[in-house]
Amino acid sequence: MANTENHLKSLLGTLCGQFQHKKLEVNWPKTKVLKMGPGSSTIIQWDILEIDGRLLGTIEETNIYKYLGVKLGRSSLISHHMRGTLTNTLRKVGLIKAMARSAPDRRRVADVLWRQWAKPAILYATEVLPLPTTWIQRIERQQNKMARWILGTSPQASSAGAHGELGWHSIKGEIMKRKLVYYGKILRMDDSRWPRQVMLETIDRNSSTTWRKNIHNALQELGQQGITCPGKNWAKQVKMQWKRWEQAQWRSAVSHDQRLQCYPKARISKKANYLTWGYTLSGFTKMRLGDLPDDQVCKLCSQHISSQTQHILIDCPILDPARTPLYKAFLKESDDENTTSTDKMKAVLGFEELHHVRSVNRLYTLWARTWEEANKSGAQKTQ
Ligand SMILES: [Zn+2]
Repeated sequence: MANTENHLKSLLGTLCGQFQHKKLEVNWPKTKVLKMGPGSSTIIQWDILEIDGRLLGTIEETNIYKYLGVKLGRSSLISHHMRGTLTNTLRKVGLIKAMARSAPDRRRVADVLWRQWAKPAILYATEVLPLPTTWIQRIERQQNKMARWILGTSPQASSAGAHGELGWHSIKGEIMKRKLVYYGKILRMDDSRWPRQVMLETIDRNSSTTWRKNIHNALQELGQQGITCPGKNWAKQVKMQWKRWEQAQWRSAVSHDQRLQCYPKARISKKANYLTWGYTLSGFTKMRLGDLPDDQVCKLCSQHISSQTQHILIDCPILDPARTPLYKAFLKESDDENTTSTDKMKAVLGFEELHHVRSVNRLYTLWARTWEEANKSGAQKTQ
């Protein structure tokens, strides 16, 4: 980096000298000068001359330069890159939907594309970049949308539930893990290494950069604060803490969401079995996530419905004949007087045998169809 025009010219002269010495050639059109901070907006061309005055080449000035995959801008260094990543995320979500729609197993294709293609690309270089909270939240929202689309639930369905079904982790957690692993790596470097020197300098100066704040928050959230010289097992330790954090966050989100009162899964990390079978089981998913409209009057039995999942699985007398075989098979032991409705629903929704899942789905389909027919005949009556 140069501070003045003459300094830059002399640096470029040295660069050319080095290149000639190594018998290499400078690629002039691809070499750019990026001015940082305030200054004139005129774009200059830099002529690089040989000592005898012969023109070696010209370098153009630019406002944005891509370095190791990160776009650096002139006035606010990385805001251009961050905006670009957001637009890219939206584009990737659209592309995944388009590709998965034509695939035989929509869910699996979209799940793999998001986890193995889109997410790593979006999170590229997040360990080094200073990340504002709003940016992380926006990416998180896109991930939640993607999860709901894959599961075929309503846009209002609980995102904690959707993450549980797919075994996905949060964007925030992933970024914290990456940042801390990288932080430890630099602190463990040799004293002579530049990254370590720069990092120690910012710590000494106590400068409150966004990146430092990111690290500080991550250390606090993952319970690693106060560690100034990370040991050999640092990365392993961080990953373990991150998994614990992710699990605790998820469990708290599940327990605070009324819709997930019968949610049967206890851990986030494993994908729900029925998703890997490749069936479209929208009813089963919706019931597990409590993603059905509540607070209405049943069109079949005229009872008031406070929880539709419970009404379909337990209460509605009209569905009794269809329900009996399901309960006979799966609740034989637990179906005594002390079993609460929530226990029953948890048992039914937690059972992950294909024939069982299918029969819950069938019950839902029967319900939905009867409801629709009741709607139709209701509409005819009013006509
Ligand atoms: Zn009913």
